[in-house]
Amino acid sequence: MEKKSYDFELEKVKKLIKERGARRVGLQLPDGLKTVATDVAAEISKDTGTEVIISGNSCYGACDIDEKLERIVDVLFHFGHTENPFRKSVYGKTLRGKPVLKGKKVFFIELRSGVDIKPVVEKAVPEIKGDTVGLVATVQHVHALKEAEILLAHFGKKAIIGKSRLKYDGQVLGCDFSSAMVPCEEILFIGSGAFHPAGLALYIGKRVTAADPFTTQISIYEAEELRKKRYLVIERALDAKSVGIIIGMKSGQFNLGEALALRRKAIEKGLNAYLIAMDEIKEEKLLGFKIDAFVNTACPRVAEDFVHFKKPVLSAEEFEVVLGERSWEDIF
Ligand code: SF4
Repeated sequence: MEKKSYDFELEKVKKLIKERGARRVGLQLPDGLKTVATDVAAEISKDTGTEVIISGNSCYGACDIDEKLERIVDVLFHFGHTENPFRKSVYGKTLRGKPVLKGKKVFFIELRSGVDIKPVVEKAVPEIKGDTVGLVATVQHVHALKEAEILLAHFGKKAIIGKSRLKYDGQVLGCDFSSAMVPCEEILFIGSGAFHPAGLALYIGKRVTAADPFTTQISIYEAEELRKKRYLVIERALDAKSVGIIIGMKSGQFNLGEALALRRKAIEKGLNAYLIAMDEIKEEKLLGFKIDAFVNTACPRVAEDFVHFKKPVLSAEEFEVVLGERSWEDIF
């Protein structure tokens, strides 16, 4: 990814810094944009005279605010995501040892893409089998959905841009596909990476054509194939005697209540159940535990990643299938 592909809104950033009288500024960028982080930091520091600290931690979504960095800066700019309406703080709102600046401290810069979506939408058309598609995008391309809708109409395809619980209609997150719940035969996703289209196919249960405007690559995700993989993971967990309930410690992924409730249920069913708090779920970290299966209460978007783990990692709903509390058909 290149800096020029996105609108970093640096004039707005500098204005906000000056207005707030900030002296120390934090920057958080998605991993794919870490290569331009130093350029952004240098420009901000030079033009505002501030001390800029770049977060070196991973950054997966708006729920993933670097709260430790937030505590030591006057203002934090989080690039690449819209504000997460579901944000819960792991650390609480009090900034220990520092006066709290009045008002908002974290600002979200959406990084709208300036790339033309027309070539990739035209390329996607022959892959769309049905006449009606649900049209969705990540926030970087959400402003281009209307244009895509008009373009699809030229090819005789009716596109529906669904209402979303998020900031924009048609917008999707790896944990929120509300905008794809529209009467359609299949989904056209505009954006990069596999997480969103795989999640859409898995949870919405429809074929997804993913169109990446940066690479103009088209990929197809079939719901049945993905669901079968999840079913095999559930099957592998049926014999588990011990289970680790993972509590995500990243801001906005923290769900202690759900983890405690799942542990109680597991114990009632005669399982040995343990609570494990972690920032990032990595296979090598899980393998160290003498535990047969794990349940993820953190970010759900990585379910597809977990398929390849040696030990099964389930979602809360999938674990309830293992416990016999709901049926497979209930979740998919
Ligand atoms: S929980 Fe996961 S999918 Fe949802 S916003 Fe956070 S990183 Fe993205």
